[in-house]
Amino acid sequence: MSQSESRTTDGQGRLFEHIADTIGNTPCIRIRNLAPEHVEMYVKAEYFNPAGSVKDRLAISIIEETERSGELKPGQTVVEATSGNTGVGLAMVCAAKGYPLVVTMADSFSIERRKLMRFFGAKLVLTPKAEKGFGMYQKAKELAEANGWFLARQFETDANARIHENTTAREIIADFEGKELDYWVTGYGTGGTISGVSRVLRKERPNTKIILSEPANAQLVGSGVAQDRDENNAPAVSHSAFQPHPVQGWTPDFIPYVLQETLDNSNYDELIPVPGPEGIQWSNQLAQKEGILTGVSGGASFAVAMQVAEKAAPGSVILCMLPDTGERYLSSPLFESIEEYMTEEEVALSKSTPGFQMD
Ligand code: PMP
Repeated sequence: MSQSESRTTDGQGRLFEHIADTIGNTPCIRIRNLAPEHVEMYVKAEYFNPAGSVKDRLAISIIEETERSGELKPGQTVVEATSGNTGVGLAMVCAAKGYPLVVTMADSFSIERRKLMRFFGAKLVLTPKAEKGFGMYQKAKELAEANGWFLARQFETDANARIHENTTAREIIADFEGKELDYWVTGYGTGGTISGVSRVLRKERPNTKIILSEPANAQLVGSGVAQDRDENNAPAVSHSAFQPHPVQGWTPDFIPYVLQETLDNSNYDELIPVPGPEGIQWSNQLAQKEGILTGVSGGASFAVAMQVAEKAAPGSVILCMLPDTGERYLSSPLFESIEEYMTEEEVALSKSTPGFQMD
């Protein structure tokens, strides 16, 4: 659209029968102001999903696949261990489809996530922060076994990578049709995004370099130390390279089974660790310079994409995943530097005209 024309819209061309039908088809958006001039950068903004994150895809995939297989019974309670976005996605899908949901979550994750899940009607069981992701998972398993509930198993289920293979990857292939895509950048939480998307990129876009990231102070993949797992492929122990880090949703304290496929098949080309504070800085830069509102993991992925961009050949095209919305972090360190009341500069502005001043 040329800038001399007024903007118009013409609807989706369809009516939506179900909130779940609005999941996916997120836009790839050009980075105009932060990208170095010699490259073309895009972000895939997963916050356009109905509950604000990439995990809406996983939520609908787990529920619908197990509905079809009969593993999930009508009205059965769903239980899952989640640092937040999976819980919010599941809470949205379970509300719409009439399943009670119980989420176990370490008490270190942001208040917004807890309140959002409850707002959708889910119940929340907090676990001690010291017991990390492993504790959350064991609690969910205990509750499922004691009550005959359906355990969603986001870290082990095939439904996770499959939805990214069938949706996220297809969207990237379609949106970059007829165009080079030199680099695709992502982090991992469960590994669903990278395992699903890399299956397709390796086959259909073999020239696209896949860049994986993890927190600099929790380099589980980088350590080369294998993960011990139990008979269900769930982690048997916390990984020795784990340290608490500020990138919520990334790198739990174990290497997820869903991610293992990517590691075993070498379905990534480079592993670039990133310090958590850079995620905070770049999230803020994306908001201030591009008007793009993403959380810390989006900022961290973008920090890595910027490193890739600096070194990339002229004309390179780079796509970076932004997993969720920045609004999910209002009470977290991401917004710590943002004042609640007027700053000195704002008070001076207020005083610069006579009316309506605060006391
Ligand atoms: N960022 C955030 C904020 C997330 O919630 C998640 C999912 N846990 C990810 C990144 C990583 O996505 P995946 O689980 O597909 O690896």
